[in-house]
Amino acid sequence: MKIQVAEHSGYCYGVKRAVNILESLISDHQKVYTLGPIIHNKQVTDYYEQNGVLVIDNISDLRDNEIESVSVVIRSHGAPKHIYDEAAARGIKIHDATCPYVKKIQNTVSTYTTKGYNIIIVGNAVHPEVIGINGWCENQALIIENFEQLELIKDFNRPTCVVAQTTYSIKQWEILSKEIESRLSDVIIFNTICHATEQRQQAVLDLAGKVDLMVVVGGKHSSNTIKLAELCAKQVKTIHIETKDDLISVDLIGSKIVGITAGASTPDWIIQSVILKIENEGEVIF
Ligand code: SF4
Repeated sequence: MKIQVAEHSGYCYGVKRAVNILESLISDHQKVYTLGPIIHNKQVTDYYEQNGVLVIDNISDLRDNEIESVSVVIRSHGAPKHIYDEAAARGIKIHDATCPYVKKIQNTVSTYTTKGYNIIIVGNAVHPEVIGINGWCENQALIIENFEQLELIKDFNRPTCVVAQTTYSIKQWEILSKEIESRLSDVIIFNTICHATEQRQQAVLDLAGKVDLMVVVGGKHSSNTIKLAELCAKQVKTIHIETKDDLISVDLIGSKIVGITAGASTPDWIIQSVILKIENEGEVIF
C-alpha cells in the first residue's frame, strides 16, 4: 500500500500563531482562560486542559475577584466587538490570537457598516468566526450559507458589501458570489476565503483523483476539515477521522493508494500517528 500526504495538511498559519500565544502564556506560568476552545480539536484542547487552561464561553463567566490574576485568550476565529468592550470596561487582560485574515474581515465589515452599507456574510451562521464577524457590523449582517438562502436577498436601498467565511468552499463561493452580484444593483464583493484554505482545498482535489481512499484527519466540529471531507467524498471513498483510533483496518481493504489530508487545526503528531497506523495495518501489496 502506498500513502500520499496532501500538500498543505495540518496547522495553518493562524492556528500555529494562536497555539504559540497560548503556549507562551502557559510557560510564563500565567493563569489562562480561552474564550471557547482554542482550536476545534478535542485532543489538543484536552492537552491544554490538563495543563491548567480553562475554557470559558463568555467573558461574563469571569468573576470580579479573578480578573487580576487571569489572562484571557481570544482564539484564531476571533470574537465580536462587544467582548473587547466588556473586557476593557472590566479591566480584563486580553491576548488577541484572532488570525490576521479574520481580523481583516472584521475591519472590512466594520468600515463598510460605518459607510452605510448592508453586509452579507457567506458562511455558516453558527460558526464562531461568522458570529465574531457579525459582531463587528452591529449584528446586522445577512448570513447566507447555500443557494436556497439566496432567496433572502432583496435589492436593498443601500449598497451592499459581501465577504466570505475564511474556510468557505471556493467552488461554491465562485458560483454563489456571482449570483449575489447579479441580484444587487450596488454591491462590492471581497473574496475573503483565506489562502491557506484555497491551497488546502486545491491540494485535496489534486490528490483525491489519484488514490483509492482518502483519509481526512481532523476534529468532527472543524469547519475546514468537514469541507475537505466533503470535497474528497465527491471524488473517491473518504473517511473522516479524529485520531488513529477511529481508523479500523477493514476501512483499508482493497486500497492500493491511500491519500491523507488534515484540517487546519490538526497537529502534526496526530497526522503522523495515523500514517504509522496505516503503514502497520494496511494490506501489503506484492
Ligand atoms: S484557516 Fe486561514 S483564516 Fe483560518 S486561522 Fe488558518 S490562516 Fe487564519
